[in-house]
Amino acid sequence: MHGRFTEQPNTGDTTGILTIDLRAVSRNYRALADRLGPARAGAVVKADAYGLGANRIVPALLEAGCRDFFVAQLQEALALKPLPTDTRLFVLNGLLPGTEAHCAHAGIVPVLNSLKQVAAWSALARATGRELSAVLQLDTGMARLGLSPADLDTLSAAPDLLHGLHLLFLMSHLASADNPDNLQNAEQLAAFSRHTACFSHAGLCIANSGGIFLGEAYHGALARPGLALYGGAPTSNQANPMQPVVRLEIPVIQTRDVPPGTRVGYSAKFVAARTTRLATIAAGYADGLPHTLSNRGAAYFGNTRLPIAGRVSMDTITLDITELPPDTLQPGSLVEIIGPHQSLEQLAADAGTISYEILTRLSPRYRRHYL
Ligand SMILES: *Cc1c(COP(=O)(O)O)cnc(C)c1O
Repeated sequence: MHGRFTEQPNTGDTTGILTIDLRAVSRNYRALADRLGPARAGAVVKADAYGLGANRIVPALLEAGCRDFFVAQLQEALALKPLPTDTRLFVLNGLLPGTEAHCAHAGIVPVLNSLKQVAAWSALARATGRELSAVLQLDTGMARLGLSPADLDTLSAAPDLLHGLHLLFLMSHLASADNPDNLQNAEQLAAFSRHTACFSHAGLCIANSGGIFLGEAYHGALARPGLALYGGAPTSNQANPMQPVVRLEIPVIQTRDVPPGTRVGYSAKFVAARTTRLATIAAGYADGLPHTLSNRGAAYFGNTRLPIAGRVSMDTITLDITELPPDTLQPGSLVEIIGPHQSLEQLAADAGTISYEILTRLSPRYRRHYL
């Protein structure tokens, strides 16, 4: 693979090439499952599997042994159907009013996030005489989704409210799991344990990618990793133990030599200080490369860092390629945006954002190539 950057270029590509290594996804899944055992490893495949294509990622995960899949929205869950009958499909955003019958009919398991959702799901179970599976989410300190501790006390005092429901898991989400030093993790775990004690029949489900690396106490019965499966770093201040999944290469579409003083790009935010060689590449902020990379980020050709010169445009970025020998890059040559020389995390840091946002905004214009 490394040879692609050094051998004679011109692949004829006019758009970025996004290479997605499904073998690495499987290996990452198995590494997390091993770390978790005996707890189960599920997989979060919301937002089209973090932009990588759920239609390819889900079969790879099934083959790796995954049986529990999480999406954010009912629409996403329906789009994943049909799945093998021994799988479970959970909707994290909850059970929205009016969607109950649809959800039940499709055999999708909602994460119940309020007493109203509990009541609606239970009412449907009673009306149809059919036991319905559910996950109950408790908000342990993120104030985003889930029942409050008081709501949960209401439920434990009146178990009838859960009539007709098969409670598979009690769930909560950690706000600071990417930082093992953050005391909020232990606080949330303590709150979770305290309030779920009276629901001993249901398994616990608390860990996202970062949570898995906080230790066994956070593993519960089922974990919900997303980012780590796709090669992202589960912990922000430690070396990334996951295998890289994504490689993004963008073709050069034009090069030029310019004299000192030449202004580059919108609003002339870069002015050449020396005789400079420039290369314009075929991706911009419309392809999910943030405008905040203007004059900050870089591409790579082999080991050579090629700084972004001036503002990121909608469909192009201009690079300062003066460090490369003349004629190294031609129209059609590929430069690396994400790959062995520049991690997802580095690109995200340069853009002032998080790796999740870089992944989920990867352009539909890129040619996707699955290994
Ligand atoms: C997105 C999400 C996850 C996955 O988180 P990662 O950090 O990508 O592992 C898990 N649980 C919930 C509730 C989520 O919204």
